[in-house]
Order: sequence, then structure tokens, then C-alpha cells
Amino acid sequence: MAKPESAEVKVPVEDILEPEKGDSMQPTPVLSLRDVVVYPHMVIPLFVGRDRSILALDQSMNVDKRIVLVTQRSAETEEPAEQDLFDVGTLATVLQLLKLPDGTTKVLVEGGERVKINTFVEENGFFEAFWELLPNEDNSSDKELEMSMRSLVSVFEQYVKLNRKIPPELLTTLAGIEDPSRLADTVAAHLSIRLEEKQVLLEIGSVTERMEKLMGLVEGEIEVLQLEKRIRGRVKTQMEKSQREYYLNEQMKAIQKELGDMDDAPNDMDDLARRIKDAGMSKEARKKADSEINKLKMMSPMSAEATVVRNYIDWMLNVPWKKRSRIRKDLGEAEAILQADHYGLEKVKERILEYLAVQQRVKTMKGPILCLVGPPGVGKTSLGRSIARATGRKFVRMSLGGVRDEAEIRGHRRTYIGSMPGRVLQNMAKVGTRNPLFMLDELDKMSMDFRGDPSSALLEVLDPEQNHAFNDHYLEVDFDLSDVMFVATANSLNIPPPLLDRMEVIRIPGYTEDEKVHIARNYLLPKQMEQHGLLAKEIQISDQVLVDIVRYYTRESGVRNMERELAKICRKSVKRLALGSKVSKVAVTARNLSSFLGVRQFRYGIADENNEVGQVTGLAWTQVGGELLQIEAMLVPGKGRLIQTGQLGEVMQESIQAAMTVVRSKAEEYGIDPDFYQKFDAHVHVPEGATPKDGPSAGVGMCTSLVSAITKIPVRATVAMTGEITLRGTVLPIGGLKEKLLAAHRGGIKQVIIPAENEKDLVDIPKNILRKLEIFPVKLIDEVLKIALVEMPKPVTGGVAAKTALAGADDKEVRPH
Ligand code: ADP
Repeated sequence: MAKPESAEVKVPVEDILEPEKGDSMQPTPVLSLRDVVVYPHMVIPLFVGRDRSILALDQSMNVDKRIVLVTQRSAETEEPAEQDLFDVGTLATVLQLLKLPDGTTKVLVEGGERVKINTFVEENGFFEAFWELLPNEDNSSDKELEMSMRSLVSVFEQYVKLNRKIPPELLTTLAGIEDPSRLADTVAAHLSIRLEEKQVLLEIGSVTERMEKLMGLVEGEIEVLQLEKRIRGRVKTQMEKSQREYYLNEQMKAIQKELGDMDDAPNDMDDLARRIKDAGMSKEARKKADSEINKLKMMSPMSAEATVVRNYIDWMLNVPWKKRSRIRKDLGEAEAILQADHYGLEKVKERILEYLAVQQRVKTMKGPILCLVGPPGVGKTSLGRSIARATGRKFVRMSLGGVRDEAEIRGHRRTYIGSMPGRVLQNMAKVGTRNPLFMLDELDKMSMDFRGDPSSALLEVLDPEQNHAFNDHYLEVDFDLSDVMFVATANSLNIPPPLLDRMEVIRIPGYTEDEKVHIARNYLLPKQMEQHGLLAKEIQISDQVLVDIVRYYTRESGVRNMERELAKICRKSVKRLALGSKVSKVAVTARNLSSFLGVRQFRYGIADENNEVGQVTGLAWTQVGGELLQIEAMLVPGKGRLIQTGQLGEVMQESIQAAMTVVRSKAEEYGIDPDFYQKFDAHVHVPEGATPKDGPSAGVGMCTSLVSAITKIPVRATVAMTGEITLRGTVLPIGGLKEKLLAAHRGGIKQVIIPAENEKDLVDIPKNILRKLEIFPVKLIDEVLKIALVEMPKPVTGGVAAKTALAGADDKEVRPH
């Protein structure tokens, strides 16, 4: 075994024998070397352990201390044969030999000449060789050699600068070497190159050639070293950066700890991570939450950025990913709950039960969404609550009134400061379960503007094909809404058509007087009494009181004001009970009602009013239900202008014009001067001028009022009418008949004129209403006039009648009825 230790060992040289010049006559012992090539002039210690090497050494010591050093082709070969050894080696002299206690020998040798081995002999258990000196066939001039030497030294200098393993003193040594061959060999000995290359350098006899080869090798090495240096540099900067970050982070933690606000922060993070794990998020959401929490860990907890991330994580944790309520399956129980909560509404309840029944069968909510449409206070919201109770779902309500921005529904992107999820997910977070009953209130009050159309976002919420992956801009991950039961409410059908398309509309038209009294007695009053802490024995309210409240204090389709008035009564009663020590019971009667509720707010019934010329009671159907609509017409001297006032919509204005045309075309028939419109201005006014009104159904009313105004024949005050009119005087059907009849009944009307085509709708009208109203289905305006006017105008027989009638137009006399 041979190991190079150091190339420079100074040795005493007393008994070194000069190696003989020329070829060997006698064979010289051979020492085979592993991993090292020894050049001439090199002094190197070798450790020798193999038997045959030791024998060779012994032989050498016995003869002339000369030995041939030959390198093995492969270091692994333990017992090399001839062919395993290179055939160029170095004739060396043993300078020193030291037997070590472990049986190996340390020997110091100095390289002498390059020799080529001619033959190996193996006689006494070791190799010996016949050799010849390797010729130095070099014919370069001294100058050329000098040049080569300088270049070699200069490239080697560069190499030494890069390779820190070589002591820089070596350069001084090199400067002192004058022999080119020796110089080359010294340089070669210090290069870290492969063994084969070293051997090649040994085998080159010509110095110039050797130096050239050597320069090439040194330059190659320089390149490698430079590359290495660059890579090392890069790795180092990376390391430094991450080390620096780590160090700063640690420092920050330490500072925060010192400040006392971090004591629980690490736990806080763990806690968040645990909650994320437990939240049952979707895979996508989980990934997102985890990455956000990693971000959060890197931030200072007090920074604004951390607050944003923290907020986000809180929202992610707050929306219900897996929590759900147990859905009640028992339809019978559901029905009982619906019945108990609301009076009447049979059709609506039945429809809801059907809906629930189907839903149980098919499990998924693929069906259309229920949409309850009706005036305020008819119990849409409370029906929603009832459905929730009946199905065991939690209830959450979101009003769409005034929502005009898509972002309100879908949230703002997190780039906005203070951004939040949309209202849908906010409400989901509020309710905390993933299968609540979600009520979308006032669907018809939603508007749109340049910020985007909220209805398209809502569409995604409501569409069962899409809502399993509802995308909120803030959360950025999909949320599954498919378990939610949506119920919408609206006052009118003024709903964006694509939305309406996905809804099953259930109409709640409004209550009759009887129904209201019933609801008040059995539902509203007990509720209010309980809320005010009144016992049944402490207050007594007669039925007449309830009827009076309906008639004189509320005029509405629903029962919201009714409830408010009852609350007022309860409040005042409680006060009376508290103040008067002797009072133990409050009796509310029709006579003392005004002491509770103040003066009457409405007149009930107009039957006692006079029949007036030009004044007709029409019936309107608005978002708040049916209403009486006064229509007034009057002729004043003028030039045939048609004045319309009272905030009339376009359709209503047009129907006035149509009515005018009907009147003019039928002038003779009604005994009217055909030129009347040239001498008079007609003014049509619909009072309560501040409320906008529109719709075609006042057509017959306008026409009747104009005819009355022109002919001076009064209109019966007990009659109300509704119907669209054509230019030929035909009466066309209208909508909202039930609401209108309810209103007529509320208003104390006795006779109602309706279009004949609406007769079929009468089946929906409560019997007790029909009993109290006289209904006249009509086809033509003539029939209307016959019923509504006190007397039918006479047709012109010679043009005189009309003249007389019109002559009286100036005097304001009204014919008493
Ligand atoms: P909406 O949502 O249609 O405007 P609400 O649901 O707020 O009306 O109803 C107003 C009040 O009237 C509620 O207290 C409700 O319980 C009550 N109410 C309405 N209709 C009925 C009914 N048919 N039976 C019992 N109470 C009713």
C-alpha cells in the first residue's frame, strides 16, 4: 500500500548511491504503487505492506538501494501481474527505511530517472525489471524552453490562487528551479488530476511536449475550479439569505415574547391549524386554508397584512363546511306545525306540503324554488319560519331590498381593504349549518346598475345545477349550497325573468275582514299579550273591537298594522293596570277604542256619501294589495285640452286618451254635442296625487267619469269598477281580481263592475265576500254606464238635448240624488 504524504521531506543524503546511468545490466527490484505516480526529483514516503513489495525492498537495500517504482493500472489489484503494471516508471533511490511495529514498512524514496521497462522477471517472489532510460528527444532551443517555462509558471500561479489546498510558498520554490524537466515534474506532482493523466505525463520524454500537455491540463483545472467557485458562491448567498431570514424571525419572536404579546401566539396558531383540520372543509378549501396559515406564521401578528390573512382564515372557519341540522321527515308533524302557525292559507300550505313530500322522495333539491308573492303583512316571512320549523332546519333571512351590486351577493376580492364575503356566505356563517332554510326577501326590490347585475349572481345561488360550487370572490374557493332550502318572497312579480323562471310562485293575495278578525283573535292577540306579559284574565277585547280596528284603523291586505294596533292596545292596558291600583282588568270595547288607538284613521264605507258628477270609484291592484282609486273628471271652458294630473303612468295616460276617444265616438249616442271638446278642456285627476299610479285597468272608470262630467249625470257612490277599455268601447279583463274585490269590500262598496272575462276568477273569492258584494260582469262600456250612472244619458234626437245638457255645464249645480 502506498500513500502520498508530503512531497517535501528533507533527508540526509550520506549513503545514497548515485544511480547508474544507462540501461540496466542487472535487473532492478520493482515496487508496484497504487494511486500514485512518482516523478523524478520527488521525495516521497511510501507505506509498504505487501509481501512481495517488502521482499523487493529488502533486495534493493541489499544491493544498491535502487528500486523501480511502477504504478498499477488499477489500484484494486492486490497481486498485480506484468500486464497490470504500466511499463514506464521511475528509477528511485531508497533514502530511508523504517519497519513499523504492525509489520508494514515506511520507506522514503527519491525519484531519479524516467525508465522504460523492457522485461519483468519474477524469481524470488518479487518482480525485478530490465529497463532503459526514457529518451528525451527534445530539440527546442533554450529560448523556447524558457518561454514555455514562464507560461507554465504563470498559469500555474493562477491555479494556485484558485486552489487553496496548495501552499503559495510552492511558487517561490518553482521560481528557483532552472531545469525545465524538473519544473514540469514538480508542477505535475502538485496538480490534482486523474492517475492516468499523471502517468501520461510520466511517459512523455520530451520536455517541451510535456510542458504543453501540462499547460492544457492546468488550464482545464482552472476552468473547473472557477466553475466550482461560482457554484459555491451562489449556494453561499442562498444559504445566507435563508439563514438571515431564520435568524431575523427568531429575533422577532424573541422581541415579541419580551413585549409579552406572544406568550399565547404559538398556541393560537396550533389552535387555528387544529380548527382547520376539524372544520371538514373541501380538499380545495383545506389546501387554501393551510397555505394561508403558513403565510400567517411568517408574519408579525401585529401587522396589517396578518390581520387580513387572519380575517380570511376566520371566515373560512366560520362558514359551515359540515355541520347540518337533522331534517324532520314526518310530514304529518310538518302539517301540524304549519296549521298551528297560520290561519287559513289552505292552498299555500297544501302546496308547501306537496313540495316537502316530493323533496323527501328525491332527496336532492333539484326542484324549483318556492317564491311567496303577496302584499306586506300577509305572513310570507312567518310562513318561511314555519317551513323551517316544520322541516327542522335553521332559519336565516337575507333581504334583497336595495341590493344593486353583484359584490354584495358574491363578496369583494381580497385585494380590497376591508373586503368580506358576500351576504350569502355571511348569512351561512351566521346560521352555522349547511342546510338551513334560506329566505331571500323582497326579490322584486333588487335593482341593478353599472356594478354588475346581482340577479345573475343570485341565479348561480339558486340554480341547483350550479350551486354545489358557489364561488364567492372573497373566499375564492367553491362552497356547496346544494343542501340549502331556498324560499323567496316578493310583493310583486316584477322579478328578473331568468330568476322567475326557476321559481314556483305561490300567491298570497290578502285577507278578508273575517279572516283578519280570526287571525287577530287567535294568533296576533295571544302573541302580543304574551309579549307584553298580559294574562288572559286581565284584558278583554270584544269581536266588534277587532272589526273596528280592521275598518277604521287599518287599511291593508295583510295584518301587519293590525298587529301593531293590537300591540298598542296591550301596551296601554299594561300601563293602566300598573297605574290604577284598583284596576284588575281592562275591557276594550267599540266605544272606548279611541281612547286606546286615538281618532279613527280611515272612513269605512262611502255608501253614505253623495253621488257626484264626474267622480268614479275605480279599483287598483298594487304591491300592497287591492285599493280603492278615486277618479275625477271635470269640464272647464277651454279649447279642447286634455289635462291629466295625479302622477299618472304612461299606460294610464293612454287609457285616458282612449276613454276620451270612446266618448267622442259615442257622443251622439250619449246625447253629447259632438263639438264639446272644442269649447271645453277636460281635466282628469286621480287623487292622492303624490302616489304614482299606472295600469290599464282604470279605463272604464275614466270613460264613465268623463261621460258623467260631460252629461252632468252623477255616478252612484256605491259602485266600484275595474276594466280595460278599447277604442270601440269593449271591456277587457284585468288582473288581481281577488285583491280588488277585497279592497272593494273593505271600502264598503256594494256593487262592483268587472269585465265579463274575469267572471271565471270568481271561484277563488271567499263566499262571504261574494255574499256581500253585487258583482256585474260586463262586456261593453254601455252596460257600465247603465249600472254606474244614476240614469242613462239619452241619445240626441235633434241635437237639442245635448245642447241643453252642455249649456248647464257652466252652472255648478249638482243634481241631488
Ligand atoms: P310578510 O313577510 O308577508 O310581509 P309577515 O310574515 O311579517 O308578513 O307577517 C306579519 C305578521 O302577521 C306576522 O306576525 C305573522 O305571524 C302574522 N300573520 C300573517 N298571516 C297570518 C296567518 N294567516 N295566520 C297567523 N298569523 C299571520
